[in-house]
Amino acid sequence: MARLRDVPGSVVPKSPTPAARADRSGGKTRQRVAGRRAGAARQRSGAETQLARTRRARRINRELAATYPDAHCELDFANPFELLVATICSAQTTDVRVNAVTPRLFAAYPDAEALAAADPDVVEQILAPTGFFRAKTRSIIGMAAAVVQNFDGQVPGRLSDLVTLPGVGRKTANVVLGNAFGVPGITVDTHFGRLARRFGWTDSTDPDEVEAQVGAMFPKSEWTMLSHRLIWHGRRRCHAKKPACGACPVAAWCPSYGEGPTDEAVAAKLVKDGPPR
Ligand code: SF4
Repeated sequence: MARLRDVPGSVVPKSPTPAARADRSGGKTRQRVAGRRAGAARQRSGAETQLARTRRARRINRELAATYPDAHCELDFANPFELLVATICSAQTTDVRVNAVTPRLFAAYPDAEALAAADPDVVEQILAPTGFFRAKTRSIIGMAAAVVQNFDGQVPGRLSDLVTLPGVGRKTANVVLGNAFGVPGITVDTHFGRLARRFGWTDSTDPDEVEAQVGAMFPKSEWTMLSHRLIWHGRRRCHAKKPACGACPVAAWCPSYGEGPTDEAVAAKLVKDGPPR
């Protein structure tokens, strides 16, 4: 059978060159990005519907999941008691610093009973590198005493019980619930609150309101991992002072794109690989 190119006068349709294919797909990508940016602009102008905001929020969550597949609680712990102590000690310092002191602390005081009977001077000495060590010592010894007195020495697995303990607010309680008990919880720390506002998910600075408004946009099963992803993104790219917008995987859905450098090379230098020390 004669092939088309063998027939005199026929015109063989050319398949697109790789460059043309790339250009076409690049055009589609540009269109998609432009469409998303227009959506983000609608959000900025306040014209975004709640449904659109929820869809955008879930899209951001999916992208962050793909970017940070290993996101997890960066405090070292072996049981709910250790996580509760470590979380209280993590106020105003880095997880790395807390992880450096907790092995000694847990070796000396392995459970609530031992910590409740601890000499505060010794505990203060151990916690000194984490800062605010007097207040932290008071909190963890008071917390341990309350766990012994009210919960038979076992850290409770309910939010309403956890927040009755000295030094334990909703943020700390949700860290413990989500990571030591497998109960979904949203952890509104400084990173989570800042990113939720930059994403336009809320304009509140009240952690309880942020928790409620963001929680309403996601299924409960996502709450704990969503918290880890936002905190990881905040620590690694979306910094408080200079977010790495030009190296951000969710830039297309973020109404705050441009708060930090958008130049790729400049932004890439702002990206941190690990947790702050
Ligand atoms: S685009 Fe910029 S402000 Fe928005 S999430 Fe990314 S780094 Fe943060």
